[in-house]
Amino acid sequence: MKIKVSKRALKKISSAEKISINKITNLLKSGRAVIPYNPVHAPDLCAIGDGLKVKVNVNVGTSIDYVNINEEVEKVKVAIKYGTDTIMDLSTGGDLDTIRKKILKLSRKPVGSVPVYQAGIKKAHKSGAVIDMTEDDIFASIEAHAKDGIDFMTVHCGVTKQTVELLKRSNRAGGIVSRGGAFLAAWIVYHKKENPLYSNFDYLLELANKYDFTLSLGDGLRPGCIQDASDKVQIQELLTLGALVERARKQSVQTIIEGPGHLPLNQIEANVRIEKTLCKGAPFYVLGPLVTDIAPGYDHIVAAIGGAIAAYFGADFICYVTPSEHLSLPTVEDVKEGLIAAKIAAHAADIAKGTAGAIMSDEKMAFYRKKLDWKGMFSQALDPEKAKKYRYGRKARVPKVCSMCGDLCAIKIASEYID
Ligand code: SF4
Repeated sequence: MKIKVSKRALKKISSAEKISINKITNLLKSGRAVIPYNPVHAPDLCAIGDGLKVKVNVNVGTSIDYVNINEEVEKVKVAIKYGTDTIMDLSTGGDLDTIRKKILKLSRKPVGSVPVYQAGIKKAHKSGAVIDMTEDDIFASIEAHAKDGIDFMTVHCGVTKQTVELLKRSNRAGGIVSRGGAFLAAWIVYHKKENPLYSNFDYLLELANKYDFTLSLGDGLRPGCIQDASDKVQIQELLTLGALVERARKQSVQTIIEGPGHLPLNQIEANVRIEKTLCKGAPFYVLGPLVTDIAPGYDHIVAAIGGAIAAYFGADFICYVTPSEHLSLPTVEDVKEGLIAAKIAAHAADIAKGTAGAIMSDEKMAFYRKKLDWKGMFSQALDPEKAKKYRYGRKARVPKVCSMCGDLCAIKIASEYID
């Protein structure tokens, strides 16, 4: 692959990731890492891929039932404040063009989108049905998003006539749970035609090259419950995406592969290895994965467990899940909770993998804890405000320690008699 970023950018990435310029260059050339960067938006540089720090994404966006642009703006601000690496605008309600432009203006982080939503919704407003969107509508939406500066786009190219047939013949418990996947599968069945994103993949590559956006090849047929994990529909879609990655690389288009979904713990490692094999090392962007289906209200924890394991075995990019997943559109607080959970997962995997520089904050935290240096501890915390709230919510009689053990503080006793 030809590398499109400048030498200066490579230098910046090399210093941020604490790896050599040669290594990052090789990763980008081989397609094992990507830098989502549309020059119109020109976001902060963020490299995603093999051996780099695990990155996290926050989804924001309105729904048909709940449109409050100010709240979505707050979500973007909170996501940036608490350290997201990227933001995706998944808006489906209100003036989608205005919302997207606002998010792009506000975010210095790379911004992703799912243009097929807009193509389908626009048509649904006119004629009442998403499946009335035409091939031109889909590509016009992609081009509009690219012109606005979208850095990476989810395109469900693996939802094909073949995979939809397989789905119809399968005994899936959860069916399709991806919105974009459902739009395209319904379109294929209704029009008895191939998915335009698949049949016109070369045109999609042309657009990606013209506007410099990264393709995030979506898993429109991902398992939506534990029972469906790793079934033949999911794997067939992944096989298709693997073939498309090779075509994209020949045209020097950066690609990421989106992954499940719902997976039991014991299938996560195999799923990562299969993706890395079938898609020739392309960065793996996991949506969770959720390791059980029975914890609505706590799905950020469910996803963080899966995300940590997936990232440990080689997933490169974790999409956050909020506590409101499967229940409602997230609030600003849900966004924060979901992001912190995903960051814990990513960081835990980085420590275990020995990713360069990952353990530094933990080392500092241990140092400050041993000194009962609270200011120091807060400086290393992922969420200093929450830590302070607990610390000062219940005061200890001896101010140096906390109210958990009071004067029996093990650290204080040890420092007085042993250190
Ligand atoms: S009081 Fe107990 S919990 Fe608090 S810092 Fe000391 S040892 Fe830790």
